[in-house]
Amino acid sequence: MRDGLSGELLRMDGASYGRYKSLAGEWRLDGGGVLEVVRAQSDPFAPPSRIAVHLGGEEAGFPAALTETPVRRRALASYLARRARAELRAPFRVDAGGQQVLDRASCQVGADGSVTLRLGAELPGRGRRIDGRAAERALCRALPDAVDRALYHDALDAKDVQRFVDTVEDTDALRRALPGLGLVAFVAEGAILPRASGVDDRPLGGGRAVPFTAPPELRTEIELPHAGRVSGMGIPEGVTLIVGGGFHGKSTLLRALEAGVWDHVPGDGRELAAARADTVKIRAEDGRRVQRSDVHAFVDHLPSGGDTADFSTENASGSTSQAASLVEAVEAGARVLLIDEDTAATNLMIRDARMQALVAKDREPLTPFVDLVRSLHRDRGVSTVLVMGGSGDYIDVADRVVMMDAYHPEDVTARARALAETPTGRTAEADAFPPVRHRVVDPASVDSAGRKGRSRIRPHGTDGLTFGEQDIDLRSVEQITDPGQAVGIGLALELAVRRGHLDGRRTLAAALDLLDRDLAAGAAGLLRVRDEDFAVPRRHEVAAALNRLRSLRVSGLRDAGA
Ligand code: ADP
Ligand code: MG
Repeated sequence: MRDGLSGELLRMDGASYGRYKSLAGEWRLDGGGVLEVVRAQSDPFAPPSRIAVHLGGEEAGFPAALTETPVRRRALASYLARRARAELRAPFRVDAGGQQVLDRASCQVGADGSVTLRLGAELPGRGRRIDGRAAERALCRALPDAVDRALYHDALDAKDVQRFVDTVEDTDALRRALPGLGLVAFVAEGAILPRASGVDDRPLGGGRAVPFTAPPELRTEIELPHAGRVSGMGIPEGVTLIVGGGFHGKSTLLRALEAGVWDHVPGDGRELAAARADTVKIRAEDGRRVQRSDVHAFVDHLPSGGDTADFSTENASGSTSQAASLVEAVEAGARVLLIDEDTAATNLMIRDARMQALVAKDREPLTPFVDLVRSLHRDRGVSTVLVMGGSGDYIDVADRVVMMDAYHPEDVTARARALAETPTGRTAEADAFPPVRHRVVDPASVDSAGRKGRSRIRPHGTDGLTFGEQDIDLRSVEQITDPGQAVGIGLALELAVRRGHLDGRRTLAAALDLLDRDLAAGAAGLLRVRDEDFAVPRRHEVAAALNRLRSLRVSGLRDAGA
């Protein structure tokens, strides 16, 4: 650890820009804390330098209660990152995220209460020379001043911090309580589900949002550590159908469930809207690649021949892409699926009586989901929540039917049952959901190295990821909620190869189990790969990205249980 950063920067004024590299390492800050130059950029046009500020637990002064559990530490870190972002401007950049409270590299709180803020900084230059005075102002004054205001407990509004941490802890507790209650999701009364716009994730404001209400039949009360007893709609395991007229709020409810795997900031409106952590949104995605997926539950023969339990294509159709995404999600451990008619392939979802009569079964390779959704739950333990306003055939197979009426849900299961007494004339096309075959991934096909041999991982917003020499299209992986998660996915894939989780023998699911252990350590696990801005992803999105990596090779298949 060195002293005298200020003098060093002033002395470097006018030197060639590359001299910044000599700052690498730890420097004692005058007002307290340590500044670490992790990686200095080699020229003014390179990606920003990486620096970190470390405060010891006693220094930072947070009460032990705020740092006791991983959830509280994640929440506190998110709060601090947001404070730091508000206090810092150029040349610094703090990656603090949006409505979701994610585990991010930018701020980490240790079990001992220590605080680390990681940020990017464009070190000041005049052309290719060091601007030592500007650097001294930024690193030795602006940064310590901001740290003083943002990262010490004494400087913060204690009530506000507590509320943030309590809110996140409640959502987390709610999510964890769901399996034990036989629920897949819960939405509290009063929740605000609609967003400001399609590109603005904040709540719909101006008093225009209709607060959520729970239908009496589905009303559930759950005891939370801070909010106490909350009442809301519990969605039970099994098959739940959401129906209703167009524009009545069906998709908005489903999107809240998609986002319900993440925690939200106080005031978001979805603080008490949670879905089980193993909930995965499924949609059609024509054009995606499929590598040796077991889609035979849905596709029993192809016009071109070929084994549909070992199905590959460079260019899937709407229906085969959705079938592949669904079985891949189950393979990766999803236990709840969300599907919206708006983004589903109709011919995979339904086939009505007339079409069954017109097109003989031996000419139609697809088994529609309506004939599989029940057995998917009964045989495989996977629940489905489905938005379907356009076909009544699902009424026959739904455990629950919820109707959205002017944004208010009603339980119309009994009415739907009565209708189902009148036969539709359909014949069921399947009576079981077979076990999904597991795949073994060839690690050599998962290469993060770019052309120069160095690891190359870059997000394109939440839409995609450059991984080595490949671009992974993530537009249809809809639960990715933050560009930082795209980076996190890339780092997780690199880590899974580097640590031998993907070893060419283990199944993908077993490799994801090992990866989960690294991710359980939070951002720290992925920081071992590289110091940059990212958010920790779920295994489900890591698997989804891997499945969309065009270089992916599957080297073996294992029957379930084998
Ligand atoms: P559906 O899927 O039933 O056609 P959407 O969920 O897409 O309907 O909602 C239609 C519109 O209504 C959207 O613009 C959405 O933001 C808005 N909306 C949804 N829920 C609410 C609500 N609770 N309060 C106010 N507006 C809402
Ligand atoms: Mg809709």
